[in-house]
Amino acid sequence: MSTPPLAETLAAGLEERAAAGLYRRRRVTAWHAGLGPAELEVDGRRCLAFCSNDYLGLARDPRVGAAMAAAAKAWGAGSGAAHLVTGHTTEHHALEEELAAFTGFPRALLFSTGYMANLGLLCALAGRGDLVVEDRLNHASLLDASRLSGATVRRYRHADAEAAAGRLAGTGGRRFLVTDGVFSMDGDRAPLAALARVAGEAGAALLVDDAHGLGVIGPGGRGSCAAAGLEPNMITGLVGTLGKAFGTFGAFVAGDEAVVETIIQRARSYIYTTAPPPAVAAATRVSLAIAAEESWRRERLDMLVTRFRASAETADLRLGASTSPIQPVLAGDARAALDAADALFDAGLWVTPIRPPTVPAGSARLRVTLSAVHTEDDIDRLLEVLAGLPALRGAVSSDTNANAGTAADSGAVP
Ligand SMILES: *Cc1c(COP(=O)(O)O)cnc(C)c1O
Repeated sequence: MSTPPLAETLAAGLEERAAAGLYRRRRVTAWHAGLGPAELEVDGRRCLAFCSNDYLGLARDPRVGAAMAAAAKAWGAGSGAAHLVTGHTTEHHALEEELAAFTGFPRALLFSTGYMANLGLLCALAGRGDLVVEDRLNHASLLDASRLSGATVRRYRHADAEAAAGRLAGTGGRRFLVTDGVFSMDGDRAPLAALARVAGEAGAALLVDDAHGLGVIGPGGRGSCAAAGLEPNMITGLVGTLGKAFGTFGAFVAGDEAVVETIIQRARSYIYTTAPPPAVAAATRVSLAIAAEESWRRERLDMLVTRFRASAETADLRLGASTSPIQPVLAGDARAALDAADALFDAGLWVTPIRPPTVPAGSARLRVTLSAVHTEDDIDRLLEVLAGLPALRGAVSSDTNANAGTAADSGAVP
C-alpha cells in the first residue's frame, strides 16, 4: 500500500476538523471614520465587535494614530534590522525607559510580539536541569516557551497556589513559577500574592505574563502585580504586550539589570529578528501616557463589566468567575458555541467562539470582551441577543465550568 499524497491527507484532516465544528476561519475586516470605535465592516456589513483586546479603546485613538503617522514621516516605515544591529532607535529606547518607569522595574526590554517575549524570557533564563512550574491554563506562548526551554515542566491546577507549592518541591537546578496575571480565556486572575509567597519559600523565580492586566487593572493601570500588592523585586520577569490595552503592537519584558542583559545576550527570539518600526514605538509612547493618565477609561470599563454581569445573571447566562473585561459565556460543546456566535453575527454583533483545544473539551464558550469605547446601549444590545439563545442559559454542568482547569493543554490558536 502506498502512502497517500500529502495534499489528500491534509484535505481529509481539514474535513474532519470541519465536521467536529473546530474549523477556524478568518473574517476580513475594514474600518473607516464613519464607523464607531468598536464597530467594524465585515463583508460589507457593519457590526459591533465584542472580541478585540483593545480594552481602553486606544487602537483608534487619533492621538496615537497621529504619533505613528508623524514618526513614519520622520523615520520611514521600517527599523531596518534587529535591535542589536541598527534597529534600536531613540524611540525604542525612550519607550523602554518609559515602560520601566510605568511598571516600576529597573529595566524594560522591547520585543516584537508577546509570543516572542515569552519564548525569549523562558529560554534565556531556564534550561536543561531546571524546573518550570506553571498554571495549566497559562497562555499558549508560555506553554510553548517552557517546552522549548528544555527545562522540566510541571503544570499545576488552575490558580491553585498550594498545588504550585507541591510541584516546586524536590529538584535541583533553577526553579521558576510561571503564570498569567489575568487568564486570557477565562478573564480570572492568578492568586499572585499567594504565588509570590510560594515562590519566595521555594526559592523560585516568579515570572508573570500580564498581557491582559497591564493598562486595565491596578492603580494607574499598573497591572495585576500592582493590584495584588506585589513589589517589583518579588517578580523576576514581568511580560506585557502592547497590542492589547495599549492599542499598538509589540511587547516587553520588565526585570532587573541582570535579567534584561541576560535576555539580550541569550534570547534567540530577541536577537534574530527585526526590531519593530520606530513609528510603532513612537505611537506606543503616546498610548502609554494616555493609558496612565486617563483613568476614566478604566472606570468606564469597570462600570460596563458590572452592567454586563448584572444583566447576564438576570438572564441566567453561564458566566465565568471574572471581574475583568474578558467575560466568557459558556456554551458547552464546540457546535453550540459556533451556532451562538453565528446567531449573534446575524444580529450585527461579533463575538468569537473559543473551542478546544484552546479551552478544555466541553467548555467551548463565547469570549466576550468589553472596551472603554463601548456604550451602555452596546452592552444592552449584546445582552438582549445573548439572552435569547437557550444554549447559553441554565445551570453550570460539571463539564462546562470555564474555570475548571481540566485542560490538557491550551497550546493552540483560538
Ligand atoms: C496575547 C497574549 C500574548 C501574545 O502577545 P502578542 O503580542 O499578541 O504576541 C502572550 N501572553 C498572553 C497572556 C496573551 O494574552
